[in-house]
Amino acid sequence: MIDASTKLCCLIGHPIAHSVSPQMHNAAFKALKLNYVYLAFDVEEDDLGRAVEGLKAIGAAGFNVTIPHKVSVIKFLDDLDESAEVVGAVNTVVIRDELARGYNTDVHGVEEALRGRTRAAKPALVIGAGGAARAAVAAVLKLGHGKIIIANRTVEKARELAGWVNSMGGEAEFCGLDEVGRAAAECGLIVNATSMGMHPRIDEAPLRRWEIPGDSIVLDLVYNPLRTRLLREAEAAGAEAVSGLEVLVYQGARAFELWTGREAPTEVMREAALRCLEVTRCEG
Ligand code: NAP
Repeated sequence: MIDASTKLCCLIGHPIAHSVSPQMHNAAFKALKLNYVYLAFDVEEDDLGRAVEGLKAIGAAGFNVTIPHKVSVIKFLDDLDESAEVVGAVNTVVIRDELARGYNTDVHGVEEALRGRTRAAKPALVIGAGGAARAAVAAVLKLGHGKIIIANRTVEKARELAGWVNSMGGEAEFCGLDEVGRAAAECGLIVNATSMGMHPRIDEAPLRRWEIPGDSIVLDLVYNPLRTRLLREAEAAGAEAVSGLEVLVYQGARAFELWTGREAPTEVMREAALRCLEVTRCEG
C-alpha cells in the first residue's frame, strides 16, 4: 500500500519501455513487506542532470541507470564506489543525506552468475567492448582468469579494453569478430557482452556450435529472448549455458541490498523477471 512514508526507487534511461526491473524490484519489496515502490522514467540526455537533482531533492532512496546514461550520469553524482570507479560506468545510485553515490552492480551480477562454475585454469573470451564487456572483464579478473581474450566488431575498442586489462595486472589479447572462433577454441569461459542475438535480431550469434569447446561455460548477457541463439549453440556443443537472466537478477539483488539494507529475495526476483520476459516473448 503506497502512503506518505513510501520510499521511491526508480530506473532512468532512454528507452525504458521493455525493462523488467520494475516488476523484479516491486515483487521483492512486496515479499519483504518493505514500504518502497520502483518506477521507470524515460529521461533524455539533455534532462539527465535535472533528473538526478530532482531525485536528490525529493529524497528518493536511489535509482538504476541504463542505456545510454551509464557513463554520462557520473558527472552529476557526488561520489563513486570502487566498483563504479574501476569500470568507469554506473548502473546503481544510492541517495543518502542528499548525496548521490554511484555503484556498478553489473560486476557483482556477472561474478555471482558464474560463481562455482568457472574454469579459471583456461583463458576467458569476452566478446564485446562496451560498458557490459568492461563489467564482465572486471568480474572475470576477480574470478581468477589470468588470461582474457577480447573480441569486438570494432577492433580498436577491443585493443583499448585489452590495454585496460593489462593495466589491471591481467594478461590480455584482442581480435576482431572474424577471428572469434579461433580464439574460442582455447577458452574455458565465453561471455557474450554484445547485443548480438537480442530481440528482435534473435537469429544472430557471435559463435556457432562447432566453434564452442564442449567443456566450456558460455554466459550470454542478453536475456531477451531467454534462450538466445548463442545459448542454443552452446548447448548443442555440450557446453554449460548460463542465461543473462542470472546477471540481471544478481545485479538487481545487489542494488536492492544497497537501497534497503536487507538481503534480497533472489528467487522472488528471478520468478518476477521470468514471468515478465515470458509475457514479452509472447507479445513479441
Ligand atoms: P554498449 O556499450 O552499447 O556496447 C555494445 C557492444 O555490442 C559493443 O561491443 C558493440 O560493438 C557490440 N555490437 C552491437 N551490435 C553489434 C552487431 N550487430 N554485431 C556485432 N557486435 C555488435 O552496450 P552494453 O551496455 O555494453 O550492453 C551490451 C549487451 O549486454 C546488451 O544486450 C545489454 O542488454 C546486455 N546487458 C545485460 C545485462 C544483464 O543484466 N544481463 C547487464 C548489462 C548489459 P562495437 O564496439 O563494434 O559497436
